Amino acid sequence: MDVQEKSAIDKSAIEPPVAGADTIAAVSSGSGGAVAVIRLSGPQAGAVLVALAGRLPEPRRAHLARLRHPTSGEVLDQGLALWFPGPRSATGEDMAELQIHGGRAVVAAVLGAVLAVPGLRPAEAGEFTRRAFLNGRMDLTEAEGLADLIGAQTQAQRRLAFAHAFGHLGQRVEDWRRRLIRAMALIEAGIDFADEDDVPAGARALARPEVEALQAELQAALADRRGALVREGALIAIAGLPNAGKSSLINALAQRDIAIVSDEPGTTRDLLEVALDLDGHKATLVDTAGLREAESKVEAEGIRRARARIADADLVLWVHDLSAGPAPEACPSIEVDAPLWLVANKIDRADAAPAPSAGWAVQDYNVSAASGEGLEALTRGIGGFIAARTEGEHPALIRARHRASAGQAAAHLAVALGQWERLDDELLAEELRLAARALGRMTGAIGVEDLLDVVFREFCIGK
Ligand code: GDP
Repeated sequence: MDVQEKSAIDKSAIEPPVAGADTIAAVSSGSGGAVAVIRLSGPQAGAVLVALAGRLPEPRRAHLARLRHPTSGEVLDQGLALWFPGPRSATGEDMAELQIHGGRAVVAAVLGAVLAVPGLRPAEAGEFTRRAFLNGRMDLTEAEGLADLIGAQTQAQRRLAFAHAFGHLGQRVEDWRRRLIRAMALIEAGIDFADEDDVPAGARALARPEVEALQAELQAALADRRGALVREGALIAIAGLPNAGKSSLINALAQRDIAIVSDEPGTTRDLLEVALDLDGHKATLVDTAGLREAESKVEAEGIRRARARIADADLVLWVHDLSAGPAPEACPSIEVDAPLWLVANKIDRADAAPAPSAGWAVQDYNVSAASGEGLEALTRGIGGFIAARTEGEHPALIRARHRASAGQAAAHLAVALGQWERLDDELLAEELRLAARALGRMTGAIGVEDLLDVVFREFCIGK
């Protein structure tokens, strides 16, 4: 061990990390792989490497090592050992990583040996990321982005989560907050110089355009629904008369395309839902047949849920049975605020009468749920529809939590701007302060202790 390596261990012993004195360890790789990764974070991370691998590797360099049990000396495996001294590590603490063979017995033996070192304990779900946040290595929106990146199922979700995980939203919110604090400082300067007649009026006049610009940006961000569309997926309601082939169509699409989740829990009783990856975009198809069934059974709650789901749809596909006659001239009136596309089904039938007509937003989907004809065009059409609605610069707000914070900030700014000339300096500055606070909660810059469990609960163990 050279002097530099030694000093890295000594330093962690002298300066305990902000997040607490425990050293945590967990298997960070998924199960079943040929290689497993065990990660450690905390002041004892270096000591564990010495105890198992016999030495502390050069920082950030992989080192091939025999890993031995610290007390019995038995060789457990041979693998790569890595050493990431804090504070320039992912968590901000001293960290170590062991890349070992992925077999269950190997992982159990090495993890057991790691945990046998005094001061070590198993990590809780999301604890590495939580420590990274507490040590200032990432803000709360970046931690959420990381959770989304790990959970990303479609390419569109991956792209958005990546931007989000590496500061896209956090930087934007911090910029809003900084500008707001500057405006607040101008008004507070007015408070301090209240005796000097011209200052308050001048300060207000200077601050107002900035607050107006901020309010406009917040409103635009709140009006932009693309974040939810990518993250939660587009909701596509499948409507039509009984026997049109709605459930056949959903099943046929689910078999062709990657079904992300089939039968989402809690909805299967009244509505059949299938989440699909349509051309790189997440879409949840909902069979609205449940609505009729529920009505006949007078299940008020079921009907309410079905209606709410359809009302939320981004797109409605009206499935028509061509063997029952040509498609209706115009789209049926259903109380939905989304585009309605005609999907003429059963084109394979000899008695199919393909005569879709002009009253539809999109009219050229002639398909067969039975033979698969036309389904590729339909998939591409839906993918293109979602792509068109999500393209452009990444959206600023992604989760309900972000919308709630931005909404609160905008509400305070609305009060301030609405009574700009009438409010006392103190009250005006207070509205701006409350708005800045709401934005600060988004990135975790202030007052978020109560949020941490909610945010980090989403992570798996080892992250
Ligand atoms: P839903 O009531 O709208 O959900 O309709 P279903 O999906 O249950 O289909 C009603 C009937 O039409 C079933 O017997 C299906 O097998 C049949 N069907 C559905 N799609 C097609 C199709 O493309 N071609 C043919 N020939 N039959 C179909």
